Amino acid sequence: MDFSLPKDLEPSLRAMRDIVDHDVIPLEREMAEKKSFRALEPALAKVRAKVKAAGLWTPQIAKDHGGMGLTLMEHARVSEELGRSPFGHYAFNCQAPDAGNMEILLQFGSPAQKEKYAKPLLAGDIRSCFAMTEPERPGSNPTWLDTRARADGDDYVIDGHKWFTSSADGAAFAIVMAVTNPDAAPHMRASQIIVPAGTPGFTIVRNISVMGEEGDSYASHAEVRFENCRVPKSNLLGEEGAGFLIAQERLGPGRIHHSMRWIGIAERCFDLMCTRAAKREIAPGKPLGTKQMVQDFVAETRAEIDAARLMVLHAAWKMETQGAYEAREQISLIKVFAAKALANAIDRAIQVHGALGMTDDTILAYFYRHERASRIYDGADEVHKSVVAKRILKRYGLAIE
Ligand SMILES: Cc1cc2nc3c(=O)[nH]c(=O)nc-3n(C[C@H](O)[C@H](O)[C@H](O)COP(=O)(O)OP(=O)(O)OC[C@H]3O[C@@H](n4cnc5c(N)ncnc54)[C@H](O)[C@@H]3O)c2cc1C
Repeated sequence: MDFSLPKDLEPSLRAMRDIVDHDVIPLEREMAEKKSFRALEPALAKVRAKVKAAGLWTPQIAKDHGGMGLTLMEHARVSEELGRSPFGHYAFNCQAPDAGNMEILLQFGSPAQKEKYAKPLLAGDIRSCFAMTEPERPGSNPTWLDTRARADGDDYVIDGHKWFTSSADGAAFAIVMAVTNPDAAPHMRASQIIVPAGTPGFTIVRNISVMGEEGDSYASHAEVRFENCRVPKSNLLGEEGAGFLIAQERLGPGRIHHSMRWIGIAERCFDLMCTRAAKREIAPGKPLGTKQMVQDFVAETRAEIDAARLMVLHAAWKMETQGAYEAREQISLIKVFAAKALANAIDRAIQVHGALGMTDDTILAYFYRHERASRIYDGADEVHKSVVAKRILKRYGLAIE
């Protein structure tokens, strides 16, 4: 295993860091004041144009589709760099859920779907969303869905209720997970179907208030309904009944990207914490960092971030060299461990900032509100732990259903 940075990636990473520092991070203040992503979009569009001109656009995507053609491990490093700001990934067009949608459209889409949906998404001309989770059913058991897509002539007619459809507000289309084959085996029941915005019967009910913020545009999570929503069968992504399999394909690399993004956030919090510890005087001439309990925060956080990064790079390496199936334990473990390292880093940084940490004068409170979800989405911690523990115990002769 060699986790050193490929030489030819170094200049790109430096250029990315420069753009995040000088063009993206300054926009955070505007977000704190205006509380609207939409208000930020003109400024972000300028940054996106700069990113494109610098040849740093959609780094995770193959060069012949307009990306940088980075490997998973290389993109992991990029994801850390961009993760330092909540808008970093968006500025470089590798933000969730669009990045996952780009990947599955390129992998499973028909030529017509690639032309109509993948191409403008890759160009950053449109946004998209992914609607799988339902309020009435446990997201932790994605084989149990109520949303149905009934075949009717050349069409599917979709009925269902979804929520936490991130970025649905303003998205040009949704990829919807719906049951098409209710009598098949649980993992073969659902399909993924593209539903363009504006299709009659596809309604955004509301942007859900999350931790006190409804959000808007890209930075929102919607409740949506499909009522008698008719789309042509040609909008089916991949095979009928392959929805779960496609979702799995999307989640493997997605968890690596998310975990490295979290490490980027944790590094930013660490940096803020250390800066504060070194400068804030608790008594004349006595900065906070002279206190051993604060030193404990510094050392523990450093160790946790470093450990998390090595675990993620190892999982990415295993995925690249042995495939997603062989790497599934590592992928589950990084999802849990990196989210915990992130939560600790944010919490300790806030603690060291005292009351200032609770305000929106620093980015810490934003991270605290928004990143609590890291322990829930892409598989709740408990589900991942349980999967790994069962697999380990099986090797000791204990089979658990
Ligand atoms: C910010 C955010 C963005 C999201 N974006 C999207 C999106 O774009 N598209 C989309 O489709 N979904 C999205 N989701 C939904 C997310 O995928 C689900 O919340 C997640 O799968 C968990 O499902 P649930 O909320 O229904 O919780 P449940 O499945 O009801 O689980 C609740 C809790 O029960 C516990 N639990 C569950 N199963 C087990 C188990 N086997 N053993 C022990 N404990 C268990 C866990 O603690 C879990 O947190 C998003 C969620 C959040 C918070």
